[in-house]
Amino acid sequence: MQATIGACKLELVTGDIIRQATDAIVNAANSRLAGGGGVDGAIHRGGGPSIMEETRRHYPQGCPTGDAVVTGSGKLPARCVIHTVGPVWEGGQNQEKSLLASAYRRSLEVAGAQQCASIAFPSLSTGAYAYPLQQAARIALHTVATYLRLHGRPDMVRFVLFDDRTYEAYADALAATLSEN
Ligand code: ADP
Repeated sequence: MQATIGACKLELVTGDIIRQATDAIVNAANSRLAGGGGVDGAIHRGGGPSIMEETRRHYPQGCPTGDAVVTGSGKLPARCVIHTVGPVWEGGQNQEKSLLASAYRRSLEVAGAQQCASIAFPSLSTGAYAYPLQQAARIALHTVATYLRLHGRPDMVRFVLFDDRTYEAYADALAATLSEN
């Protein structure tokens, strides 16, 4: 599924984030930048040890929830990896919504600072961090669409969804976001 927002393209695909040849790919990291399972494990396995060496050297203090930092991509086809930290779902009373929106927004800002014209996101927080999928998809698409309307870049944002259930949730959320105005 594809949409255009101003001059920007917004795409939804099923697939694997580590295979994306976009300028940036986004890692669903944890706040210690310690590596883990899911997207994080796939990126470090695929990219090799240089990514972790760089996070340890440049960000020994980790990365707060809702923020994002950048490293090289090791052996991956993308030019850089943006490590962002989405919230752990704790029932919805702990700023989860604004922290998830912030993780998407900060990733786009960091991509802009790196002159990235294209960026690929996974579905942040909806795996191990257990954010309810439909709600997370709405926040993801609304935040990215608002950012694109406001800034007119990056040229292309791709959501790389791992399974059909996640893709369907994002497709519904994209339709809802586009009908907002
Ligand atoms: P979080 O800890 O933020 O919840 P996870 O990595 O556990 O992040 O999961 C986030 C989403 O990414 C889930 O929908 C999961 O199925 C999906 N996912 C896992 N591996 C990959 C991958 N290699 N590419 C794209 N999406 C993936």
